[in-house]
Amino acid sequence: MAQAQHTDTAEQNEFRAYCREWLENNHPGWPDVPLPQGALELSDPAALEWLQGWQKSAFEAGLIGCDYPSEVGGGGRENCQLIANEEMLAARTPYLPNLIGLGMAAPTVFFHARDSVKQDLLPKLFSGEEIWCQGFSEPGAGSDLANQQTFARRDGDNWVINGHKVWTTLAHFASWMILLCRTDKEDKYNGLSYFVVPIKEALGKGVTVRPLIKLTGETGFNEVLFDDLIVPDEYRLDEVGAGWKVAMTTLSHERGAGPMVTPASGGMSTKEESGVSTGSPASLIALAKTQARGGKTAADDPLLRDEIVKLIIRRQAFRQNERRARVSALTDHPMRIPLQNKLVSSELNQDVAQLAYQIQGAASSLSVADERAPDGGQWQLAYMNSFGITIAAGTNEVQRNILGERVLGLPKSK
Ligand SMILES: Cc1cc2nc3c(=O)[nH]c(=O)nc-3n(C[C@H](O)[C@H](O)[C@H](O)COP(=O)(O)OP(=O)(O)OC[C@H]3O[C@@H](n4cnc5c(N)ncnc54)[C@H](O)[C@@H]3O)c2cc1C
Repeated sequence: MAQAQHTDTAEQNEFRAYCREWLENNHPGWPDVPLPQGALELSDPAALEWLQGWQKSAFEAGLIGCDYPSEVGGGGRENCQLIANEEMLAARTPYLPNLIGLGMAAPTVFFHARDSVKQDLLPKLFSGEEIWCQGFSEPGAGSDLANQQTFARRDGDNWVINGHKVWTTLAHFASWMILLCRTDKEDKYNGLSYFVVPIKEALGKGVTVRPLIKLTGETGFNEVLFDDLIVPDEYRLDEVGAGWKVAMTTLSHERGAGPMVTPASGGMSTKEESGVSTGSPASLIALAKTQARGGKTAADDPLLRDEIVKLIIRRQAFRQNERRARVSALTDHPMRIPLQNKLVSSELNQDVAQLAYQIQGAASSLSVADERAPDGGQWQLAYMNSFGITIAAGTNEVQRNILGERVLGLPKSK
């Protein structure tokens, strides 16, 4: 269990003790249905339903949305979400399924929607009852996000939307989408507007969702097509033409640098029987002890031992940096650590999974479907999934540009 941090206030200490006790008594245990490694890969409705049950109980206990005001369904606390996150991680609870909703849609709706829309939508977002997705990327608008071609045309009190989104995570389950689109073809940045769109109720009536299959064989993201979808003006966020500004609220939270802390848990291993938690050095060491190498085990190989130790040191440095980010006197720029965390953690996870391949040797070619695959093939899945994380939420190359320009003050890239 996590210890109380020396930086906690009295209120935070009390809240930490409450979270710890609640989690001791209310851990949901393990589902009968297999869970994918993360919410980005959720394809089975039964797995989603089980995870929604977990999110709902954690929300009702006050562990989700803690720092949002009570008028919008939040806990009305200050700086407590991080505490709840640390305790959920330490208690090895399952991950939360409404990943896009909690991380990106909630702060965007909170800062930019009309009061009635916030009050209506946020409680069901926090509870996980309504899943959200993010309609930003298009076939010609990824890193160059402002190149949006999906168009919203004004028609009285409504907007008529036409266009094509892609890589839309969780759209196959989503009730709502945060949507960036063009309202003026003449002005690249000031010609964008931002909406929340009830996509589930519009399926077959202006919205088509087509699943895309990933390298792992799982669904997780989709193409979403809009064909004369009608959206009431009350679902527009901020002013017409202010879409880029609103998108910056979404992106700063997506990149871990926004003012609202994203509710997150997920310390629970994806495969309880083997206890494998990919990304964890302890699981990597356990794997090395089971793999034969020259009459001994991979854990006895001095070269592999060196590599494992290097990864443990990198992980420890990452954790200490996370703690350092909470003490303003220890940071030279408020955005440095949050922005670099996505880079560091995504590359670290990839390197851990890659080392697991080396440790397994020839057995690394066995897939999750093969019963001879070490640790049930979870490392192979983790390796394949790890590439998406270096692309999602803006590629790591783009994140490096942002760090260079905004934190280090280097000249803008051409
Ligand atoms: C797992 C996953 C989930 C996703 N979920 C969503 C979602 O829910 N909603 C959504 O809207 N999108 C989603 N995306 C899409 C993601 O945001 C885009 O893939 C990403 O922004 C990159 O855009 P692109 O694929 O068009 O690549 P491009 O922008 O075409 O980039 C191609 C290559 O060029 C490089 N590059 C581009 N511009 C620069 C530059 N200025 N400097 C240096 N290098 C550059 C990139 O780093 C990349 O290597 C998801 C992607 C993944 C992998």
